[in-house]
Amino acid sequence: MVSSFRAHLVNDLFGDPALYVALPWERRALLFDLGDVSRLSAGRLLKISDIFVSHAHVDHFIGFDHLLRVLLGRPNGLRLLSPPGLIDHVEGKLRGYAWNLVDQYSLSIEVREVFPDHVRTARFSCPHGFRREDVPGHAPFDGMLLQESQFQVRCVMLDHRIPCLAFALEESAHLNIDKVRLEALGLPVGPWLMDLKRAIHAGLPDDHSIRVAWSRDGQREERHWPVGTLRSEVVRISPGQKLVYITDAVDSPDNRRRILSLARRADVFYCEAGYPERDMERARSRYHLTTVQAGRLAAAAEARRFAVFHLSPKYRDCGAALVSEAMAAFSEARSAGHSP
Ligand SMILES: [Zn+2]
Ligand SMILES: [Zn+2]
Repeated sequence: MVSSFRAHLVNDLFGDPALYVALPWERRALLFDLGDVSRLSAGRLLKISDIFVSHAHVDHFIGFDHLLRVLLGRPNGLRLLSPPGLIDHVEGKLRGYAWNLVDQYSLSIEVREVFPDHVRTARFSCPHGFRREDVPGHAPFDGMLLQESQFQVRCVMLDHRIPCLAFALEESAHLNIDKVRLEALGLPVGPWLMDLKRAIHAGLPDDHSIRVAWSRDGQREERHWPVGTLRSEVVRISPGQKLVYITDAVDSPDNRRRILSLARRADVFYCEAGYPERDMERARSRYHLTTVQAGRLAAAAEARRFAVFHLSPKYRDCGAALVSEAMAAFSEARSAGHSP
C-alpha cells in the first residue's frame, strides 16, 4: 500500500486521545481529537490546519488552550469540526482570557458544527478580540466534512449519550505516470502531467481536453489529448490509504451499523477499547466499547490493521492484557468471518 499519510497516536494507551496525521506534500497536518497535545513539538502543532473533534468531553478537548498558546502568532487559520455544541465551548474558552494586546496577531478560528443534515459555522478572530461571529445560514450536510483533491474526511454520528463523531480519512487514488509508455507515444514529461492528474482527481469527463506543449529542435509543438485516452494509456492507478478513527461509543446495533458504513476496508482502524470484556456492563453504562467489541468491529469492517487507544486509566496496571484481548478478538473474528 502506497500512502502519503504519516499518522501516529500522540499519547500512550491511557493518554487523552489525539491522532496526528501529517500530510507531507504540503507541510500540513490534521488532528483527530484535541486531547493532550503537550507532547507535540511547536513545529508539529503549527502545521495543524483542521481538527476533527469527536465530542467535547474534557479528555477530547483539553488540548485547546495549549494549542491556542502556540498558534496565537500564526498567520493562517485553524478549523475545528465537531458535533453540535462546540461553538459555545470554544466561545467559553476564549472568553476566559483578556485579549487587549494582541492586535498584531491574525489567528482566526473557524468552528463548524455538524447536525444530521446541515452545518453551522462561527468564526473567532484575534484582531476582533476573538468575539464570536456567527456565519448566517446553514450549509447542507451529507456526511462529507472536508473534500480536497488529495483526500477527504467523512463522518458518522454515534451515540455516546451525547452525539459523538467517528471519522474516515480517505486518500485519493495514487496516479503514477508510466514513463516508458509516455516515451513510446512520443509525449514529453512536463507540467501538463499535473494538469492531467488534477483532471482525473476532479473526475472530469473522458473527452475533456489536456494541452500538451513542448519544444523540439527549436520548434514549439502542441497537441490536445482527451483525458480518457491519456488515463488509459499512460496512467497507472493505485488505491490510496483509508484511516478510520472511532472513539467513545456504546455497543448498540445502530452504532455498529453506522461504524461499518464508514469503516469498510480501512487500512488502519483506530478504535477505543476502554474496558476489558469482563467489565462489559461498566462499559455499557458509560457508553464506551470493550476490547472484544472493538476487535469484532475492526474484523467486521475487514480492516487490514487494528490499533487500540483510550483505555480507561483504571486498568493502567493491565494495559498489555487489554490490548491482547482486543487483538485476539480481532484475529478470531477475522478468521471466523463473524460479524460483530
Ligand atoms: Zn466521552
Ligand atoms: Zn473519552
